[in-house]
Amino acid sequence: MPLLTKPLQISRDEYHLISIQRWFQSLEEDGASIETMPREDVREYHRVAIQHLLSYVWEHNPFYRDRLQMAGYDPETEFQINNLRDVPFLVKDDLRNHYKELVTKKKLAHICKSTGTTGSKPSYIGHTMDELYSYYFAPKYPTLMGGVKNKVVANALPYEMSSSALTFHHEFQHLLNCTILPVGKGGAYSEPEIALQFMKDWEAEILVTTPSYAILLHEQAQALQLDIQNDFTLKHIFLTGEGTSHYFRKRIELLWGCTSTILFGSLEAMLVGLECVEQDGFHLAEGHLYVEIVDEETLEPLEAGQQGEIVVTTLLREGMPLVRYRTGDIGFIEESGCACGVSLPKLCLRGRNIEQIKIESGEFSPFYLENILMQVDGVGNWYRFIVKDRLLKVEVEPFHENIDRELLAEQINSSFEFHINMDCDVEVVEKVLRNPGKVKRVWLEK
Ligand SMILES: [Zn+2]
Repeated sequence: MPLLTKPLQISRDEYHLISIQRWFQSLEEDGASIETMPREDVREYHRVAIQHLLSYVWEHNPFYRDRLQMAGYDPETEFQINNLRDVPFLVKDDLRNHYKELVTKKKLAHICKSTGTTGSKPSYIGHTMDELYSYYFAPKYPTLMGGVKNKVVANALPYEMSSSALTFHHEFQHLLNCTILPVGKGGAYSEPEIALQFMKDWEAEILVTTPSYAILLHEQAQALQLDIQNDFTLKHIFLTGEGTSHYFRKRIELLWGCTSTILFGSLEAMLVGLECVEQDGFHLAEGHLYVEIVDEETLEPLEAGQQGEIVVTTLLREGMPLVRYRTGDIGFIEESGCACGVSLPKLCLRGRNIEQIKIESGEFSPFYLENILMQVDGVGNWYRFIVKDRLLKVEVEPFHENIDRELLAEQINSSFEFHINMDCDVEVVEKVLRNPGKVKRVWLEK
């Protein structure tokens, strides 16, 4: 079938990322974008981009070359997308133990560290200058991100160690011509009250932060007796960095009086999916990544609609490209189209296996439990789940001080009994522990 979009062609004597960048530019000049490109054309882009990615790592990276050799890869053979299935997976331990071997272009412009769990070995991802300021901006998502153009953006993500704040900083500043307020997320110089003052003084229209920090900033604004409607000019919040349930996110929108969408990604993969106004799954960032879903046990590739582990291959990275990286996240892909008009398939996330709460009546995502809790009238914004001996204890704040705590505890208990068929111990407390530097809503003590 002939392609509708102009085909991506890469000549052998040209660096493939420059060709891909030029191709995206010419698409833009024609008024086309990856967001609405015919699926057949996206598949062809993936095939060509991965073919060149593999020959790039084959030539420049002994670590990947060994793995490709094991898979019987031959750079002279015509590449089909299904051939990627022969390439061994890259796992988190590879990033922890072989991070220097994964560096494919020696000059890295910056290196970021995973936030990781305390005590675990860190993993690192480095990027080249060209990648950060050039190749990575090639594919555009005009429907999903276009609304941010030229806006004043408060970036309330951590700037130190991790890549999250820096990624959005570059993206919004260079690609979308925004004015960035680098307010940070509770570091030594970025206490919430200073962040709020900054946002107020420079009339931030967009806030990028985690769900829990959005709540914490609001709580602080109330404590400072700031008027959300009159003192702030926020129109939209991009939530990222942690999961959230539907009802918790609705609270954030209600409290701040604005809309929100979630951006899903990680240190390793960077941006993976972008939510649209429908708030029902993440459109895959297919300009940047090729995504596979594999069976968690057999690691065999699955079809659209089937749930498994999310595996990503980066298409535009030269410093530390990832080939078939197992993210540990669980989800499935939905290809049935979306009312927003974007034709990129949607990723429906089901959390991570290691984060599931295992209790007597079954295994539950913490966000499923959060959704149950947040629907009970009178429940405050802060809580923690404590799991011990497969029993669930819920510690929660009341929404305001006049709420009958005994009655609230009973209502929460009966709601959990109804939804998860299990009695749980509910304690309505004055204040759930929080720490501005590392805010968490889901606490597990096993
Ligand atoms: Zn959509």
